[in-house]
Amino acid sequence: MKIELDLSRRPEAAPAALPSLAGLSLPALKAEMEKIGVEPRKASMRAKQLRRWIHHFGTQDFDDMTDVAKELRAELANHYILTRPEITEHQVSRDGTQKWLTRFGPGIEGESVYIPGVGKAGALCVSSQVGCTLNCTFCHTGTQKLVRNLTAQEIVTQVLIARDALGEWPASTEGRLLTNIVFMGMGEPLYNLDNVAEAIDTIVDGDGISIGRRRITVSTAGVAPKIPELGARTGAMLAISLHATNDDLRNELVPINKKYNLKELFDAIRAYPELNNAKRVTFEYVMLKGVNDSLAEARALVQLLKGIPAKINLIPFNPWPGSPYECSEWDTIEEFAEVLNRAGYASPIRTPRGRDILAACGQLRSESVKKSAAEKRREALEADQAEGPAA
Ligand code: SAH
Repeated sequence: MKIELDLSRRPEAAPAALPSLAGLSLPALKAEMEKIGVEPRKASMRAKQLRRWIHHFGTQDFDDMTDVAKELRAELANHYILTRPEITEHQVSRDGTQKWLTRFGPGIEGESVYIPGVGKAGALCVSSQVGCTLNCTFCHTGTQKLVRNLTAQEIVTQVLIARDALGEWPASTEGRLLTNIVFMGMGEPLYNLDNVAEAIDTIVDGDGISIGRRRITVSTAGVAPKIPELGARTGAMLAISLHATNDDLRNELVPINKKYNLKELFDAIRAYPELNNAKRVTFEYVMLKGVNDSLAEARALVQLLKGIPAKINLIPFNPWPGSPYECSEWDTIEEFAEVLNRAGYASPIRTPRGRDILAACGQLRSESVKKSAAEKRREALEADQAEGPAA
């Protein structure tokens, strides 16, 4: 008997093994079209169609793409999926804050937090890296090693996941719940600027997700040489994690200050394009009891910001297990804010959000790491008990 193997017919790959197009930039979509043999002349047009279906309508099924020929839809479905990465945790706080832990790959988990009432209607805080290299002493993410940069697609995917949960497809411009994006999740965005800039291009695209550049804020611990470049490439709003008004203390709290001190940092901030009263820099200042919260420091902060169109965000320190600091007393924070207000700065105190779901910086992932360690212990215990002699 002769057995014939038909090698021309590839077995159907499991859907999960196919790459997703969701979150890809327009140039990346075009490259994918060329990869599957769409002629270059048409690849651009196809990429634009896909962009609209995926990022304006939120489509997750090629069959919804009614202006794409049936054969091409089938061909697309042979090569790609439109689904999002696996969400390993999704929590909704009593105050409406939502948090997602997304699994981008084995051991690669990033968190995003939706915070209602921030920005025009609500802001999504996205991660740009998994882990961080900066080791700021008050930040829990700083205690985790850098795992890797997130790709532009993975950054955009965080926005798609939030839109899915908020039910905001198609991307209408009226009555949106998700109006602002802040790069204040895990990681240092200016150490991943290429991917952050590509993600921003996709997020602002008027035929896609369509969130304005002025509604996107990128926060940095102070990678000075990249600051003007961020402005030139993205047009985003700038936020600086300042936290101290002199080099000695800042060297301790935000160690990247040893590389780029306050003078270099402020020279770079002054070079940020288009700063004016409508486009101000946000300075974040975490309130640490007895460390950086004296009234003398509030006055020093006012001096430091002279001549820069600025907003100040006072952030009550969010403690984490084993953290070496405490949050300043509420009265102290208010007195500190009062000095800033008298100097003409609106200085809102960022109210703690989503406390019941641990929505603070770096906490979700560490919880899950803790849990999996606990799970491992339990498994080890169970294995032990299974092997051990019956009692
Ligand atoms: N690497 C970037 C973005 C991530 S941190 C940056 O440093 O700006 C986002 C903001 O959360 C920063 O202002 C950071 O200083 C602040 N933050 C980190 N841990 C915190 C904590 N435990 N309590 C309050 N704010 C914290």
